[in-house]
Amino acid sequence: MGGNEWQYVKEAFDTNWIAPVGPHIQKFEKNLSDLSNGYSVAALSSGTAAIHLALILAGVLEGDDVLCSSFTFSASANPVKYLGANPVFIDSEIESWNMCPELLEQAIIDCIALGKKPKAIIIVHLYGMPAKMNDIQQLSIKYDIPLIEDAAEALGSTYEDQPLGTFGLFGIYSFNGNKIITTSGGGALVSEDEGLIAKAKFLATQARDDKPHYEHSEIGYNYRMSNVCAGIGLGQLEVLEDRIFKKRAIKSFYKKELSAIKEISFLEESEDRFSNFWLTTILLSENSTIDREQFRLHLEKDNIESRPLWKPMHLQPVFEDCKAYVNGNSEDLFNRGICLPSGTNMTKKDLERVVNKIKELYEA
Ligand SMILES: *Cc1c(COP(=O)(O)O)cnc(C)c1O
Repeated sequence: MGGNEWQYVKEAFDTNWIAPVGPHIQKFEKNLSDLSNGYSVAALSSGTAAIHLALILAGVLEGDDVLCSSFTFSASANPVKYLGANPVFIDSEIESWNMCPELLEQAIIDCIALGKKPKAIIIVHLYGMPAKMNDIQQLSIKYDIPLIEDAAEALGSTYEDQPLGTFGLFGIYSFNGNKIITTSGGGALVSEDEGLIAKAKFLATQARDDKPHYEHSEIGYNYRMSNVCAGIGLGQLEVLEDRIFKKRAIKSFYKKELSAIKEISFLEESEDRFSNFWLTTILLSENSTIDREQFRLHLEKDNIESRPLWKPMHLQPVFEDCKAYVNGNSEDLFNRGICLPSGTNMTKKDLERVVNKIKELYEA
């Protein structure tokens, strides 16, 4: 926590706004909107809920195809299944590790040739690194397919100075406990279209019609953020900039300290990209004598946790029947990539301990 969260939570208790409605939610949405091009915001119970509502509002129905990044966390794709629709997974390019625009266009063309235009594109900005947004956005416009940006890991990142989450019809953020800022659990849906966000709030509060009694003409959901959690979020937004600064400093430290090890390379920004570097990620070279598991276990012996990169969705048992456009990149990233400890509460000493342990591995 950053400092003021407790005060906001206490305020919620003192004023008895202990509900999925209240002044903190409105303030949180306003402050988040300020970070998102002034777009409309719905504060929700999770990032997954935000993706679910985005797909509903994009008109996705049972049996529809939805194009989705393969290299991601399962929560990007699960809501497609909630709707009885079919995820079609798209592999990565190697510049940002995110969705490959060429494969995306190929998939769109194939789907259209089969007489079934995809209903939405879910593009993910993994580890905070912006995807090739120019190309992806252009394809979304060219083929008139709604774009949903899963920016769950990328709050505060920008592409050509524009905040991620503001390029498509919808953007989503997550405030789960592991994200760059948290409300313990929570998420948000963002759109330039005020009407769509109003509709999202309606669906997120059980789709109750405007009547004195309880009247329902649509299926609703219980997806609103609690006023208590929004209080945590208000305090967390105050420290977002500082968190990004620290995340970037952690990445720079690892990069500097490990630069002599030729077997290790880093995911890097290009000129038009600004990453929040939610996690510092490395790749072990193809001809490395040490493989990813050896690397991980070596750190674990000293009680240092590291993790493989996300396992692509097209390799997950639960999605094995789904169509996929594959070029081998995400599988290769999974085989050779590792997330290093990146918590913003790590001290210089903690970071040095990790670095020294890694150096040990490469000293002959
Ligand atoms: C965390 C995450 C989500 C889901 O967010 P929740 O708030 O945990 O539901 C979706 N996509 C990605 C890429 C994530 O990292």
